[in-house]
Amino acid sequence: MRRRASFWRKSDSEIVCVLCPRNCRIAPGKTGFCGARRNEDGILYTLSYGAVVSWAPDPIEKKPLYHFWPGSSVFSIAAPGCTFSCLHCQNWSISQTRIGRVETEEISPDELIHLTKQYGCQGIAHTYTEPTIWTEYAIDVGKLARAEGLYNVYVTNGYITAEALEELGPYLDAANVDVKAFRDDFYRKICGVSSLKPVLEACEWMHQHKIHLELTYLIIPGENDREEEIRDFCRWVREELDPEVPVHFSRFYPHYRMLEKPPTPVETLERAHKVAKGEGLQYVYLGNVPGHQYDNTYCPGCGSLLISRYGFSVLEFNLEDGKCPGCGRRIRVVGKFSG
Ligand code: SF4
Ligand code: SF4
Ligand SMILES: [Zn+2]
Repeated sequence: MRRRASFWRKSDSEIVCVLCPRNCRIAPGKTGFCGARRNEDGILYTLSYGAVVSWAPDPIEKKPLYHFWPGSSVFSIAAPGCTFSCLHCQNWSISQTRIGRVETEEISPDELIHLTKQYGCQGIAHTYTEPTIWTEYAIDVGKLARAEGLYNVYVTNGYITAEALEELGPYLDAANVDVKAFRDDFYRKICGVSSLKPVLEACEWMHQHKIHLELTYLIIPGENDREEEIRDFCRWVREELDPEVPVHFSRFYPHYRMLEKPPTPVETLERAHKVAKGEGLQYVYLGNVPGHQYDNTYCPGCGSLLISRYGFSVLEFNLEDGKCPGCGRRIRVVGKFSG
């Protein structure tokens, strides 16, 4: 759906898009890198407002969000396109395409709320590709969701400007941000952007503005798995965010243009878990390893098993009034458990 965009400025005959830190300069008749925003006669239009390429009701644990409305179902939607071009993108068929080259279904914010309720979901997740590119839509959805008692979450690469976050933040309840590595050269070589810094700044902004935040770090053998890099990442979480921010180290499987790498050895993930715990992080998970003990939540105080999971299902939920039944410690979980 074509709509006048927010987040841009004029610069001579061009437009500078300030939605993501790429800050594309867009000439008349052209679109920016993501393909979702076009300069038409000196006005920037968003082409992806409500243009849904994929939708499904999912468990919130699949996002992954483990400390946010556990056990709930979330209506998950995506626009075609992305601000990155990751060589290992799992969803490349919808992220590395452009609006117009793939079939989409127009879903207005009102219709989306209706669908969310019809499917018995407790909220909406903008996910699968990169939600930043339809932030105007996510804001309108978030306003309606808030009024209906539904939550609104982003699963994002975190490449979004503070200016956009200022507008979106009031209607965003939670985010899972991919910190894809802790070195700029990874972002340059694998993701096609120059720096990791804007991602870290977006995480810090969200945390400071009390948006529930969880982080995913996908470990790729030989690319971002060095102990020193993992340690730097964990120290940043502890010092610039909070040791209670949940961290998901996720297992890589070959996809798209990174087919030559093997899946991440489970021992590598376990080593990262050990480093993170050693650095004082309190909730550290291993993703894409179903049945692993570190898919569960343990009390950082006494070690009691608080939430056990298998795949994306919650098997046991042992918190009592938000506290550990073993030692009474308060455990940071937003929302109620849907058993
Ligand atoms: S949102 Fe799209 S058009 Fe805007 S700066 Fe980012 S990549 Fe460029
Ligand atoms: S940021 Fe996510 S959706 Fe975009 S290309 Fe990278 S892995 Fe794919
Ligand atoms: Zn305890």
